[in-house]
Amino acid sequence: MRNRVDRVFAHTRVQQAFRYISDHEIDIEADQILLTKIPAPPFSEARRARQFVEELAKLRLNPTTDSMGNVIAAYDGMGENPVVIAAHLDTVFPASTPLQLQRNGRTLSLPGISDNGAGIVALLWAFRAGKESGIRFHRPVVAVGSVGEEGEGNLRGIRSLFSEPPWDGPESEFIAVDGAGLQRITHQALGSRRYRVRMAGPGGHSWADFGRPNPVQSMAAAIHMFCASAARQPGSSFNFGVIRGGISVNAIPREATMEIDLRSITTASLNDLENQLMRVVSDATRASGVECKLEMMGERPSGTTAIDSVIVQAALEVTRRFGIEPQPDIGSTDANIPISLGLPAIAIGAGGNSGNIHTPEEWFDPTHREQGIQRLLALIGVLAGLD
Ligand SMILES: [Zn+2]
Repeated sequence: MRNRVDRVFAHTRVQQAFRYISDHEIDIEADQILLTKIPAPPFSEARRARQFVEELAKLRLNPTTDSMGNVIAAYDGMGENPVVIAAHLDTVFPASTPLQLQRNGRTLSLPGISDNGAGIVALLWAFRAGKESGIRFHRPVVAVGSVGEEGEGNLRGIRSLFSEPPWDGPESEFIAVDGAGLQRITHQALGSRRYRVRMAGPGGHSWADFGRPNPVQSMAAAIHMFCASAARQPGSSFNFGVIRGGISVNAIPREATMEIDLRSITTASLNDLENQLMRVVSDATRASGVECKLEMMGERPSGTTAIDSVIVQAALEVTRRFGIEPQPDIGSTDANIPISLGLPAIAIGAGGNSGNIHTPEEWFDPTHREQGIQRLLALIGVLAGLD
């Protein structure tokens, strides 16, 4: 692996591309702000996608948009078994969120500026620097601006991409560029399942109808049983995040609803947690006569790309060349889908620093961001091979 990485870093065109990236920070930042200022709330990424298409078209890449809304552009033809690099276009912010840029020194404050303004612009500029420097890859390289990565988007963009890939061959490799930073190499996919549980009864007067089935009490019993039995396991978590029900203090409620998030790095533990949830819900309602409906709100598959795989080893070695000790990590990203399909896949950051992610106070500091884009380009070079 060291020799492979040596060859890429010594390549004249790669060095030229690195300089090109360092010289264009002002333009990179301008593109990042332009793209981040276009709202891209869940299920409404189309406007930002159009802008991304426009930028890729300037590189003469013939970008297309698939039926789900993903933007897809091959560096030099689609071909077989490509290296696929994806940056998600969507944000967690609803359409009503004001997108006003504030500068504090070099730091940029704007919702979504890091997650995933930094990722989208890194992908765009890695391709631009490659093209401007005349880099040609052996294997096909494909850029994807994906939709539906955040929250209820439930990874629908990448899920649909891999269910019917626009390329040939079973041996693609996948890199998600998500947020800021250089250190973390996410090779384990944290799986999650989300449920909404509704319990219902006839309702009634708190005194006159006392004794009728009470959905709020049954729900509380179910939560209590779950928490008492599901001891905290390493690599797993659960969260009762939302609970609603009832209309008045002196009315027996007709309905109660709760939303639960279960997570684990292994499918077996996720199955255990899920079975446990089904069991306590059924026990709590059977005892009380309350009716119950359980629905899945979303699901992210889990899995691991082996630490000794080419893609992880390449990412670790390339990162070290920038004087940074990389950290193998667990995360929930677009890479969950290819990882769960057994394909070599990781997620990495786009360089720079960030904070207050997923809040309106999100910020991005572009100091050393050029290293994030250089690293991405070098990693593509190592995986795809250079002519
Ligand atoms: Zn993200």
